[in-house]
Amino acid sequence: MLKIAIQKSGRLYEDSMKLLKECGIQLNNGNKQLKTVAENFPLEVYFLRDDDIPQYVYDGVADIGIVGENVLLEKNKDIAHVFRLGFGKCRLSIAVPKGVSYNSIKDLDGLKIATTYANILQQYLTTNNSTAEIHEISGAVEIAPGIGLADAICDLVSSGSTLFTNGLKEVDVILKSEAILAANKNLTPENKALLDKLLLRINAVKTAKNNKYIILNAPNRQLKNIASVLPGMKSPTVTPLAEEGWSSVQSVVNENDFWEVIEKLKQFEAEGILVVPIEKMIA
Ligand code: ATP
Ligand code: ZN
Repeated sequence: MLKIAIQKSGRLYEDSMKLLKECGIQLNNGNKQLKTVAENFPLEVYFLRDDDIPQYVYDGVADIGIVGENVLLEKNKDIAHVFRLGFGKCRLSIAVPKGVSYNSIKDLDGLKIATTYANILQQYLTTNNSTAEIHEISGAVEIAPGIGLADAICDLVSSGSTLFTNGLKEVDVILKSEAILAANKNLTPENKALLDKLLLRINAVKTAKNNKYIILNAPNRQLKNIASVLPGMKSPTVTPLAEEGWSSVQSVVNENDFWEVIEKLKQFEAEGILVVPIEKMIA
């Protein structure tokens, strides 16, 4: 039985549950209990505070866990960062009051920075030979400058609206973070095999999200050109249409090249282009 720790409630909860579901893992109970066992995969799910997850994985109470990279780096436990999951994206940034000018971290020499991420910030200050002083607090960091507790803050930002409402501006990004699947470094061979099985599924879900299925009609004289911009998984599927001289072409396009590919297809006289999402994709 593989044991996974996920956040009990908060910003990573929904996406973590969704990921397990997309991997075909059925969970009966929500996060009302401390733990639950999947119905169709040898997986036990523990619902915990995100800050506790690195320690639990390090101790082997859980074998693997889903947690923000920011928390992993702050806790700095000797555990493996196995997979970047692509959700829970945020930045750990320095912010200063709106009117203050800032060119580099050296501008904060001798001043106080409030944060809950003392370890990550300390490392950044040391690397940059900064003499700023860290004021570690446990929450509501964004109000620290307003009440005279600090001159700047170092906190998580996603849209920046919390900073804005507190009269602050983001001036320096220390870390770009996202949710990570982390694992204990001494898994049993059985659990290692289960983790590999889970990773195959996570990969399939992630690859599918990055790709779209595309279907179009094209004149036969353009098929070579069209195949050159639509490599697909091997090569595109081409079937003749009832109308003489025309074919239907089916393939897979990567999200990153999507619009570029569509423009080229139009140049090569493609018509009736349909684009559909892919649920799973196994290369
Ligand atoms: P817990 O009760 O589990 O301790 P928390 O309040 O510490 O929860 P959340 O605010 O739910 O944590 O955030 C969990 C994680 O979500 C963060 O550690 C971070 O990796 C990620 N995250 C994404 N966007 C943001 C954001 N705008 N602010 C804070 N965290 C964010
Ligand atoms: Zn937390």
